[in-house]
Parts: sequence; structure tokens; C-alpha cells
Amino acid sequence: MTFDAIIVGARVAGAATALLLARQGLRVLLLERSAIGSDTLSSHQLQPPGAAILERWGLLGELVAAGTPATTRLRLHHGRHVVDVRPPGPMFSPRRTLLDAMLVRAAAAAGAEVREHVTVDEVLWSDDRVRGVAGRARRGGAFEERAPMVIGADGKNSFVARAVRAGVYRERPARAFAAYTYLDGMPVEAGEMHQRAGAAAAVFPTDEGLTMVYVSAPLDGFAAYRSDPEGVFLGLLDGFGDLGERVRSGRRAERLRATSDQPNRFRVPYGPGWALAGDAGVVMDSITAQGMTNALRDAELLSRAVAGGDFATYHSERDRGLSRMYDLTLHLARHRPGAAERLLFPLLARRFWGSDRRVGGRRGHRGALAA
Ligand SMILES: Cc1cc2nc3c(=O)[nH]c(=O)nc-3n(C[C@H](O)[C@H](O)[C@H](O)COP(=O)(O)OP(=O)(O)OC[C@H]3O[C@@H](n4cnc5c(N)ncnc54)[C@H](O)[C@@H]3O)c2cc1C
Repeated sequence: MTFDAIIVGARVAGAATALLLARQGLRVLLLERSAIGSDTLSSHQLQPPGAAILERWGLLGELVAAGTPATTRLRLHHGRHVVDVRPPGPMFSPRRTLLDAMLVRAAAAAGAEVREHVTVDEVLWSDDRVRGVAGRARRGGAFEERAPMVIGADGKNSFVARAVRAGVYRERPARAFAAYTYLDGMPVEAGEMHQRAGAAAAVFPTDEGLTMVYVSAPLDGFAAYRSDPEGVFLGLLDGFGDLGERVRSGRRAERLRATSDQPNRFRVPYGPGWALAGDAGVVMDSITAQGMTNALRDAELLSRAVAGGDFATYHSERDRGLSRMYDLTLHLARHRPGAAERLLFPLLARRFWGSDRRVGGRRGHRGALAA
């Protein structure tokens, strides 16, 4: 079989792009190094625009039916200030085992050929144009496949991006590490976001009645975290009112996971015979939880570009859509909020997540916006 497009990486960006290209009638080959639907090191807050995209594709119902709860209220804590905001649409926090597998199933149902346990280790060129890929399959050994378009959806350390020498710009060093875990028996009234100098945290309900607790802190604290993960994790949460206590009182459902591999960079997302989607194209610190939504948006923009042959518009629309959030992410990942930001925090939240309601603060304090 010959293919119109080969996609390397079958998670949010790759599976979603495969789905849309296959729905356009293209012959798509989707290649994944690991097992389809395996877990990956990522918390998984899907922003309202991401949920709206899944809804447009007819897939949101499946997530909800599988038990992913909708979050319709957010409680923002900044020091003593607490503000409730209502996002413009529901947010969801589907485990990646669920979301990635669902997208791959949808791509296969639309006609894409999916192969797992396949590692791409070469990009094939002729006449200065990418023409295919080569690699190794766990079963079956070496392989080569050809197509006029190879899409790297292979994550932040993208092999495809390096092989095609995609230009890098707006790159900034990693600023923060992140750690997260899951709790049973830790009920939440709303999604929670906590911020103070030196740390930020998020708490969201996820599948199977679990609550995901995430913390971000400056990178120079990662060595201390590695020598005492539990102590540092709970110590950071103790800086947010009763959050540490609430986490201690829940039952830990899974181990603590952490990473300091949080680069920030844009890459030129296309060239002769190739394109990039998701983290392979733009990656930013996880503190603003944008990567999955960005990957879904890329899939829409890129599949349009493949259909119309206009990749310059993909590049400019992608960058226009991400630029302000990228700056905000870099700023928040510094973990140095000032007095002005204490007031700005809810305003920024309203700007980026939307809000039509505000309430007074808890613990006897008034919400910053109510002041
Ligand atoms: C700690 C942490 C928390 C996060 N929290 C959130 C959050 O709450 N919300 C959010 O939206 N985003 C979050 N993110 C970001 C999110 O994880 C990424 O943006 C998202 O996974 C990007 O999806 P992707 O499909 O582009 O790449 P990936 O999910 O990285 O998938 C790439 C795939 O390509 C495969 N691959 C790589 N190389 C090859 C190869 N040579 N051959 C074959 N296959 C290959 C890999 O096996 C992988 O499965 C977080 C990230 C981190 C690190």
C-alpha cells in the first residue's frame, strides 16, 4: 500500500492529525514507538477550546461516557485571595490512557493504518525533499515506508524535527520542574489553581473518581525533590492553605511522578515533504496546561494546510494563537509573582479562561476582584 501521509507519534497531536487526514480521504500511516494508549509523563488538563474541538469532531461524548467528569468551575487561589471563575465551556481532565487511545481508535475507524512498537530512526530524502521514513518494528525488524508528506508528531524531543533540521526560535531554558499524583477520596468542589512565590499547584477531578494533584516549582529545587520526593511535594502543598492536609487525608492511588524536562521553544513547522505538530513544533512549560489543546488545534490547522497546500498559513496561525500564552507561561514558570500580579492573576485568568462570575474569598478574605 502506498500512503499520502506518514505520521510519527500516535498521541494527541499524531492521532488527531491522522484522524482528520483520514477523514479527508487520505491514506494515512500512523507509527508509534510505544504501546497505543500507554500512559505518558503528563498531567492532562484539557482547556475549554480543546474540549470544544473534541466536541466538533464528535468525540467528547465518548470521553464523558467513559467517566471523565466535566469541570465547570475553577477556584483560583493567590495567597489570601480566592476567586471563583466559570470557564467559557467545560474543562476535562482525561487520563492519557483514555484520551490517546480514543483518538487512535477514531483515526483507525476513519481508515488510518496504525502500527505500534515501531521506532522511526531515519527520514528518507530524495531531490532535497522528504519522501518517507525507515526504522525498526519490534516484530518484523527493519522497515521503510514512503509518502509525499511525513509529519513529526513525536513530542518535545522530536526525532523528525532534528532530522529535517527544523529551525528553532523563541527558545528559553527550562524554568521549573513539575510533579503530580492521584488521590482517591479527596473530593473537590471545583478545579483548583494555587499560586504563590516559589510554587504553583493544580487540583482537578479525573477518571475513575480520582483527583489529580500537580505542583510546579523552580528548577533549582529539583535536586532537593529527587532526594526527598514526598517531603518536598507535600512541603510545597503545605504552602497553599490546607492543601497539604487534604492530600495527606486522601488515599494515594498512584506513585508520584516528576520531570525537569520542560523546554520552551518554537520550531518552524514545515518544509519540503515534512511538517510538525504538537510538542514537536511548539513546547512550553506545563504550568499553564496548554500542550494537549495546542496539539488538537495544530491537527486542525495542519490538516487544512495539507488539504489546501498552504503551510505558511499553518505556521502563522499557529504562532499567532500561541504567542501570548507562551509569554504568560514563561512568566508564570519563573514563580516570582509580585504584588501587581496578585491583582492581575484573576484578570489574566479571566482573559485566558473567561469568567462570568466572581465570588468573595474563603477563609474570611474577599476575592481580589471583589475588593
Ligand atoms: C509534567 C507535565 C504535565 C503536563 N500537563 C499538561 C496538562 O495538564 N494539560 C496539557 O494540555 N498538557 C500538559 N502537558 C503537556 C502535554 O503532555 C504535551 O503537550 C502533549 O503530550 C503533547 O502531545 P504530542 O502528541 O505532541 O506529543 P507526545 O504526547 O509527547 O507524543 C509523542 C509520541 O511520539 C512517539 N515517538 C517519539 N519518537 C518516536 C519515534 N522515533 N518513532 C515512533 N514514535 C515516536 C512517543 O512514543 C510518543 O508516544 C504536560 C507536560 C508535562 C511534562
